[in-house]
Amino acid sequence: MAKILIKNGILLPMAKSLQDGGDLYFPGSLCIENNVIRALGDVPQDFAADVVIDAAGKVVMPGFVNCHTHAAMTLLRSYADDLPLMHWLEKKIWPLEAKLEAEDIYWGTLLACREMIGCGTTTFADMYFFMEEAARAVADSGIRASLSRGLIGVAPKGESALEESKAFIQQWHGKANGRITTMLGPHAPYTCPPDYLEKVMQLAEDLEVGIHIHVAETRQEVEDINRQYGKSPVELLDEVGLFQFPVLAAHCVHVSEADMEILREKNVKVAHNPESNMKLASGIAPVPRMLAEGITVGLGTDGAASNNNLDLLEEMRSTALLHKVSQEDPTVISAYQALEMATKYGGQALGLPVGVLAPGKQADVILIDLRKPHLQPLHDIPAHIVYAAQASDVDTVIVNGEVVMENRQVKTVDEEQLYAEITKRAGRLVSE
Ligand SMILES: [Zn+2]
Repeated sequence: MAKILIKNGILLPMAKSLQDGGDLYFPGSLCIENNVIRALGDVPQDFAADVVIDAAGKVVMPGFVNCHTHAAMTLLRSYADDLPLMHWLEKKIWPLEAKLEAEDIYWGTLLACREMIGCGTTTFADMYFFMEEAARAVADSGIRASLSRGLIGVAPKGESALEESKAFIQQWHGKANGRITTMLGPHAPYTCPPDYLEKVMQLAEDLEVGIHIHVAETRQEVEDINRQYGKSPVELLDEVGLFQFPVLAAHCVHVSEADMEILREKNVKVAHNPESNMKLASGIAPVPRMLAEGITVGLGTDGAASNNNLDLLEEMRSTALLHKVSQEDPTVISAYQALEMATKYGGQALGLPVGVLAPGKQADVILIDLRKPHLQPLHDIPAHIVYAAQASDVDTVIVNGEVVMENRQVKTVDEEQLYAEITKRAGRLVSE
C-alpha cells in the first residue's frame, strides 16, 4: 500500500450535519497512508506521497455504502418484472435460485462488485448463500463488504445453515486486509421463528457479530406476524431479545410509532430500499419520521432482480423524490440528508469506520467529475450529486487505500471474461 495524495479537489467530507453548517467545500488535499485517511485540508509537512492524483474539477468524497443487497442476484436481473410479489417469488425467483451453484455466486457477486465500483460504491452489506464464493469475489474485486449467509429457520437446512454461518464467519471475518466483515443473516421474522432466533442470538454472542435481517417489508408480513403472535414484527423481535445485538434491519416499511420508538431506543439501524419497495409495490417507509426520531437510516438497493441496478446515486435521488411526493412537501429529505444516508449513516449502520472523510477513518474515497454539461455551474454540489449526477460521472474509486478504478477503468476485474461467464451462467439458469 502506498501513500496517496489527492490534491486540488473540492472536499466533501460528510462529517458534519447540515444543522452544523454541513461541510466546508474548499480546494484542498486529502492524504491517504496505508489504508486510512491521514489528513485532509493541508498536507502534513512530513507526508511524502508515492502517488499523486490531481482532482481539479472533481469532488472528493467518501464512497457510497449500500446497506442492503443480495449481490449475486445480478444473474436474475430483468428476468422477471412487473409481477405480483408472491407470483414473482414463487414462480420466477425461487425456482431460478434453486438452480444456482457455488461458482455462479462467485461470478454473480463479481458482476455486482464491478457494477458497484463503477457507481462509486465502496462498501456493501450482502445476504445470500454460498457466501465463501461471494467473499472470494469481494476479495478479488477490491471492494469492502459486510457479508451474511441468509438463514431460513423453517427450511429443512435451517440447522446446517447455522453451522455454515459459523464456519464462514470464523474463516472470513477480517480477511482481505480487513475489507471483509461478517454478520449473521436470519432472513426475516416470518421465516425465522423465535426458537430459531434464539440459536442465532447465541451464535451472535459467541462470535461477536451483528445481525442483518429483513423487517416489516410488506403489509402481508405485518398481518401474518400479528395473527400468529399478536404483535408487530418489531415488537416480536424486541421481545425475543434480538435488539440486544447490533441489528441492521432492512426495509422497516410498515412500522408504527410504537415500533419506531423501539427502533430508536434499541439503536436498531435501518436500511431503506426505496426503489425495491416501489418496484415490488411494498409501500413507503416513514423515513423522514425515523430520521427526525434520531434513528440511523442508511440506503440499500436490495437485489438486482427488484431494482434493477445497484446504483446508490439513483437510490439517493429516489429517496429524496419519493418522500417529497408522498408527503406533498418538497422540504422533506434534503439533498444533503440523502447524501448522509448514502455515506455517513451507511457506515454507522454497518458499524464500520467508513462513510466520512476524517483522519483515522478507512480510506474509501471517490472522485466525481464535475466537468460535465449536466453538472455546471457549481451552485450547490450536494444537490448536483443527488439530483443531477450519473454513475458515469464517478471517475476514481479508492477502497482501503487501493485505487480500484481510475479514469473509469476498473483495475481489478477482467470484464471480457466476466461478461462471458455471466452470459453462459444466466443462459443455463433459464434453460429448461
Ligand atoms: Zn432483501
